[in-house]
Amino acid sequence: MLNDSPIRLQRYHALPKIMFSESNTSGSSTPSLIELNENLLKEYGIDSGWFKSKKGLMTLAGNDTELMNSPLAMAYSGHQFGHWVPILGDGRAHMLGQMKTYNDSLIDVQLKGSGRTNYSRGGDGRATLGSVLREYLISEAMAGLSIPTTRALAIIKTGDMVQRENIVSSAILVRTAASHIRVGTFQYASATQQVSVIKALADFVINQHFPEIEQHDDKYVALLNKVIEQQAELIAKWMLVGFIHGVMNTDNMSIVSETIDYGPCAFMDTFKSNRVFSSIDRYGRYAWDQQATIAVWNLNRLAETFLPLLDLKTKSAIVIVEEQLAKFTSKFNLFLQQGLIKKFGFHERTGKHLEFINDSLMMLSKQKIDFTLFFNYLTNVNKGDTEGLFLELFSDREKGIMWLNEWQKLKSDNPEIKLAMRQVNPVFIARNHQVEKAIRAAEDYGDYSLFKRFAKSLINPFEVSSDNEEFNFPPTPEEIITQTFCGT
Ligand code: AMP
Ligand code: MG
Repeated sequence: MLNDSPIRLQRYHALPKIMFSESNTSGSSTPSLIELNENLLKEYGIDSGWFKSKKGLMTLAGNDTELMNSPLAMAYSGHQFGHWVPILGDGRAHMLGQMKTYNDSLIDVQLKGSGRTNYSRGGDGRATLGSVLREYLISEAMAGLSIPTTRALAIIKTGDMVQRENIVSSAILVRTAASHIRVGTFQYASATQQVSVIKALADFVINQHFPEIEQHDDKYVALLNKVIEQQAELIAKWMLVGFIHGVMNTDNMSIVSETIDYGPCAFMDTFKSNRVFSSIDRYGRYAWDQQATIAVWNLNRLAETFLPLLDLKTKSAIVIVEEQLAKFTSKFNLFLQQGLIKKFGFHERTGKHLEFINDSLMMLSKQKIDFTLFFNYLTNVNKGDTEGLFLELFSDREKGIMWLNEWQKLKSDNPEIKLAMRQVNPVFIARNHQVEKAIRAAEDYGDYSLFKRFAKSLINPFEVSSDNEEFNFPPTPEEIITQTFCGT
């Protein structure tokens, strides 16, 4: 059975041919398996035997596509930093196909960094080992925090070098996802100016991911509504853990609202509402507090592609779309407020509570307080711990004492709310300086031990354990990382 790949389907063949391009992988000279996410395979209910076999390694390294469905690269367009790019597509990724999970859901298996395709433009089709390790860690962190995300199933070191700023090792990330269709995929379909192509894509998405709306009177409005709602929830979830995606271009926004494409993303340490990490985001377009605005901008681009599909019996297409888009802000605000209420250990959402939360966030920023530790220690105080550690977070201790007094008046004493507070306030996150340390050790010394320890502990960020102790603390002043680079 070991030669039997669990990747048995290729559902994207059902899309119009213009939406993808069959493409062979380039292969790796001396492939080695750096990491296999056995936890994830367990979640899927898929045996790990094939992935550990020689055949599995050769397939994931792009060396053996025999017995596989023909790999393909998907076409998409995108607005990158607001600029329209009509042809992007998988320039260095190959969709191998889908696996079936224990409950018959289909999961895409894609190789990222597996060679050039029709969409590579000037690129080499490869990914650096550093960027692959980074995506593995941060997507695992997101999964651990219960935030919808594409997953990292394995890392294959290719044995080949690539030229970036320096010459560095390349690797392949085996990425899994519920879907690899992006807002940019719809933009590409729309740019063909064939309504049949847009319709086929929308019907495919409904059939694969939202079958419950198939019989809906106006299923395309319903689809738009689903995407808007899920994106509003996703962005709120990012913000509640201090996550900044960094490149929210329309090609990096999934139609099923999984976080996708981990480039210069980061979790913030000290809180600042307009925090930016990406070295290429010079104007703060994708700052922490801009993410909802940008999501709406991106969803507007998606909605435009839906216009030809809408039933215009009663209203104009533009009015229909605007009604849907208007829902984003109220949904997003509700998700964000509800999340913050839980983080602070409140159970009411009154004006007074919300005002206190707003003031507190401003205070966090002024006092340069670590976002994760603040809520982690506050959770402990609410559980009955002494206030010492919490107060140490404040540069002005008196301010801390005053703040706690105000908070005591508003917080809930309901034991269930206290417990729920831990479920939304992680003990630790994938901090930048730790991610960088793990990458440096692997890239510079071939030492993956820190990466492996980190990856293992990220899956359970809500419990203090000896496994995660070393990852709990913010960077020392020398360790602070203020910028992240694409380093792709
Ligand atoms: P990203 O910044 O990873 O979201 O990629 C943006 C676009 O550039 C996508 O179309 C990628 O496929 C393409 N791309 C990124 N890196 C490479 C590379 N090394 N070779 C070819 N295409 C690439
Ligand atoms: Mg991308």
